[in-house]
Amino acid sequence: MDDCIFCKIVKGEIPSFKVYEDEKVFAFEDINPISPGHTLIIPKRHAQDLWEISGDDLTAIHLASKKIIKAIQDALQPSGVACVQLNGPGANQVVLHYHLHLVPRLAGDPELPVATWELKEGDMEAVRETADKIAAAIK
Ligand code: 5GP
Ligand code: ZN
Repeated sequence: MDDCIFCKIVKGEIPSFKVYEDEKVFAFEDINPISPGHTLIIPKRHAQDLWEISGDDLTAIHLASKKIIKAIQDALQPSGVACVQLNGPGANQVVLHYHLHLVPRLAGDPELPVATWELKEGDMEAVRETADKIAAAIK
């Protein structure tokens, strides 16, 4: 897509700090890192989100995430790595080109809000009804 910043990064039209590339995937450092080593993995072929991305590209991204998370572990020794992926503006996806965030967690880092939601017991009848609705819609 011509006006997509991540497509421009793949094409080298916008500079980036690349950490990995293969036939399907490009991975680079986030310019607003939540922590050192905050890495984005994207498909080279434009797809907006999890609804749009092909199975092959999604597989390639997740295989790359395994390789890169190992490199992060070896290079930075984090205490954990949060893998975060947002779909749609309603979920705060800002760049509309699929990307998986790898966010290394270091001792003393501020909490990631997405990883610290409060656990409140659900209404099991409502949970069951929703599960049935989703299960019935699976194609
Ligand atoms: P989202 O909220 O869409 O999941 O996150 C988009 C991410 O892309 C943000 O963390 C933001 O810092 C990063 N980002 C936005 N523009 C650029 C850019 O031009 N270069 C790089 N490397 N990262 C970017
Ligand atoms: Zn794009």
